[in-house]
Amino acid sequence: MKGEDQPLVISNVALEGKPVDIVINDGIIEAIHPHNPQLSIPHSLIIDASGKAAFPTFANLHTHAAMTLLRGYGNDVPLQSWLNDWIWPKEKLLTDEHIYWGVRLACLEMLRSGTTAFADMYFFLPAAARAVHDSGLRALLGDSVFGDAEAMADAASYKVPDWQDDRVRYAVAPHAIYSVSETGLRRVAHYCKANNLLCHIHMSETAEEVANCLRQHGCRPYEYLERIGVLEQLDHRIIGAHSLHLSPEEMRLMARYGVVAVHNPNSNLKLGSGHQFQYKELRQAGVRVALGTDGCASNNNLDMLEAAKTMSLLQKGWRNDPTVMPAAETLQVASRNGFEALGINAGEVAVGRLADLMLVDLNHWAMVPDTDTRANLLYAAHSDAIDTVICNGRILMRNRQVAGEAEVIAAVRRIAKELQVTQ
Ligand SMILES: [Zn+2]
Repeated sequence: MKGEDQPLVISNVALEGKPVDIVINDGIIEAIHPHNPQLSIPHSLIIDASGKAAFPTFANLHTHAAMTLLRGYGNDVPLQSWLNDWIWPKEKLLTDEHIYWGVRLACLEMLRSGTTAFADMYFFLPAAARAVHDSGLRALLGDSVFGDAEAMADAASYKVPDWQDDRVRYAVAPHAIYSVSETGLRRVAHYCKANNLLCHIHMSETAEEVANCLRQHGCRPYEYLERIGVLEQLDHRIIGAHSLHLSPEEMRLMARYGVVAVHNPNSNLKLGSGHQFQYKELRQAGVRVALGTDGCASNNNLDMLEAAKTMSLLQKGWRNDPTVMPAAETLQVASRNGFEALGINAGEVAVGRLADLMLVDLNHWAMVPDTDTRANLLYAAHSDAIDTVICNGRILMRNRQVAGEAEVIAAVRRIAKELQVTQ
């Protein structure tokens, strides 16, 4: 791959409507100059980006990447039947090799739709890590935990995985408060605190989950986590996927303990989980909100541009207010908020930030006329308007070409046949 060891110059690209040259060195945006056709940086690779606009890439804060293998399997059925009769029986069959290719397909799709970092929750982490490495993206790989979390009983037993580096990191992912016991949740919290790990958990996804929590524990899900001491231990270390059905008191708790609320609008809509994500209330309470796609079995894609548009339209729709969730703010939720939640210094095309950015083709029909580039990208374009994607200073897609695409697609087709999810 080009661009990692030599300086990269993105020449004559539109940034906030102005033509500039972006200089990338050692994975960092080193300088941004007004465009100068004579600009010369020794030994650099120059990309002519005239007719393109630069945007920060997206951070997908909740997904199950390998579930690309089950894309389109089990549609339009109730949640419990979907899990029991469709998804879980197939997940029992998965192997390291399946996971590797499923995650490769996920990374391919994420690259094509402008995502360079994701927070995952699944199994077979070493195979997933290899796939992320080979694809060139960043990921926080959450180790799925159920029941009593036996493996986390001894916090001192944690060893930094040999696959971890500055792009791919380990996290703990207790599935949810209804599938992990109180003992398990306490163990996870202690384990994460002792080893300075992030914790990624499904929270308050359905009204039924909240009703069950009220019946069993006499309080709502985030109140339950506080009562058993988990929020305190996981202070500023918790990613709460969905966080859809919340009370004002829970939002105050989330703000106090630095919980990141991750909205997954397409998954929530398709599974009929609810559509009134309380973005404004969460922001007013001081909670950081990020965006995710959830896995491909429920969405059925990993397209953050589509998720961002859905989020914006849903907020305007259920509040009957077109002024909420304007384009710039929505794109920031999909990008910078997610990177910040992961502790990654990206999400903005600015000097000193990590070089995670994409070039959007201003000659694509959806970007014409160029009256408002951001609004065109969010409301008119699909991901095929994204031409080039750079992660950590490396060019991973250029002219919509991604290395190894045919091999990934062939492998996943073969595996889907083996799993009998296709004919
Ligand atoms: Zn999920």
